Amino acid sequence: MLFAALAAAAVVFLFLVSDATVHRTVEDRIADRFRRDLEHLSADLAAGGFSPEARDAFLRRAASDLDCRITLIAPNGKVLDETDLLPADVPSMENHRDRPEIREAVSIGTGQAIRVSPTEQKPMLYVARRLSDGSVLRLAVSEARLREVERGYLWALRAAAIGVCLLLFLIGASASRRFSEPIAELTRAASAVAAGDFARDLPTAGGEEVQLLGGAMQRMKTALNQAVQRAESERRLTAMVFERLPDGLVVVDAKLRVIEANGRFSEMTGIPAPAGRGVYEVLRERLLYDCFETTVGTGEGSERIVKLADERVWQIAVAPLPEGHRAAAVGVLRDVTRLERTEAMRRTFVADVSHELRTPIASIAAAAETLAEAQPDSSESAELLSLIRRQSDRMRELIDDLMDLAQIESGAVPLVREEIPLRDMLAEVAEDLEAGARERGVDLRITGDAGVTAIGDRRRLGQLARNLLDNAIKFSPSGAPVVVRVWRQSGRPGFSVEDLGPGIPKAERDKIFQRFYQVDRSRSKVRPGSGLGLAIVKHIAQLHGATVDVEGEVGQGSTFRVSFPAAA
Ligand code: ADP
Repeated sequence: MLFAALAAAAVVFLFLVSDATVHRTVEDRIADRFRRDLEHLSADLAAGGFSPEARDAFLRRAASDLDCRITLIAPNGKVLDETDLLPADVPSMENHRDRPEIREAVSIGTGQAIRVSPTEQKPMLYVARRLSDGSVLRLAVSEARLREVERGYLWALRAAAIGVCLLLFLIGASASRRFSEPIAELTRAASAVAAGDFARDLPTAGGEEVQLLGGAMQRMKTALNQAVQRAESERRLTAMVFERLPDGLVVVDAKLRVIEANGRFSEMTGIPAPAGRGVYEVLRERLLYDCFETTVGTGEGSERIVKLADERVWQIAVAPLPEGHRAAAVGVLRDVTRLERTEAMRRTFVADVSHELRTPIASIAAAAETLAEAQPDSSESAELLSLIRRQSDRMRELIDDLMDLAQIESGAVPLVREEIPLRDMLAEVAEDLEAGARERGVDLRITGDAGVTAIGDRRRLGQLARNLLDNAIKFSPSGAPVVVRVWRQSGRPGFSVEDLGPGIPKAERDKIFQRFYQVDRSRSKVRPGSGLGLAIVKHIAQLHGATVDVEGEVGQGSTFRVSFPAAA
């Protein structure tokens, strides 16, 4: 298109220039030719010795040959001959002395003029020459004839100009296509890359400049691709961390609307797609969303632990985000229910231990005080001393149990596993407790298959059985039997301890295995215990993969059953 316009402009320009040039050139050339013709004619006339008729004939022939009008003017300006008029008309012609070309020729030898001929009444080109006898010979041609010649030249020139411009246009267009095609190809490839098609290679064909440009763009594409990949892998990592975080994470805007939240947040709040919703709607608990309000309002972080209506405990921490982003704050939600429960247990445990130790210590202190004032050998002194011994024994037992429990709970108890015949082991424990049982009038009986064995640690299983038998003896009414049965059921070895004591209400059956839990503290006043025995039983059973449960009706005794896993 551009080349076509340029070619058209060149044609117009060449036309204008050629018009002016050809115009002048044609005039000059014809004048030159006339001058040469005049030279020859004057030489011929000087040499000829023509009679006026012969001269007239000579001049008319010459005029016809040279395709012009010839006039011979005498030195005084009188026209002697004129080829365009009949010889008869010549004498009546106007004196030519004042014609500019004649005057010029008379004075300097040659003269030239373009003017309207008074004879023919049309513009003419005149060229005159003074002859040796002083007369002037003049050739003339009409301007119309000049223009005719000029047109001939002009059309030839115009045709040449059009031809050259057409040629230039074709060359330019083809050269431009050769140059622009690779650029267009490069542009298409660059657009594809810009749209994300990094697999597309940028073409390097074409001229040197295009090749350089293509190479530079290829390098740029590679660098861009690497940067995009780096950014993408970082984005993926961040998204993965965000999603896999074990805490609920939520990002809100200044209007407290959720922008983004991770899976754990959705799981905790029970709202699968919280994005776009208000934090009030999502968190519902005032104490929780207050934290967001405070942080977005003051620009300072806030943190608190909130107990929800359903007993769950959440820790919430909200931090402000720098201004200039859509996100205004980020909140982390952590479920600390278990942690809180453990902490509460720890507090209860410390309180329980303190309480359990305070009772014997108070008794010992009181006894010691009374003892200080009592008669040394009195029966009262003996009683007080025995009370002090009993209470310190109780404290020692309590501390032993506590240490045992702590050790077992920590899981740091090395178990020596061996095959233990249950009946033998239970008989040994019963023997140890025989004296106490007899004291309470309790009859200890052991029944069952002597061949039943379990895999476990002898000392720890002995401790487990002792605690169960001790309780059974302790809670049995005087004279009632305590029966220990050894059995194997569905391949699982086990034993049970039955007594006819007060039994354990159904609601308490799980709780008695907790530390310090006692069904009725008034019972323990009669039969003091640490409240740790069954907790130790439960932990030892767990270490062996065994289960412990309790049955029996209130008022009709209890049966504690220990069931070991079937031997592999
Ligand atoms: P304690 O030292 O108080 O016996 P345990 O942990 O051994 O502590 O027992 C916890 C509580 O379970 C006892 O205080 C008692 O209330 C109840 N309990 C345990 N064994 C029996 C049983 N054989 N008969 C009735 N109650 C029992």
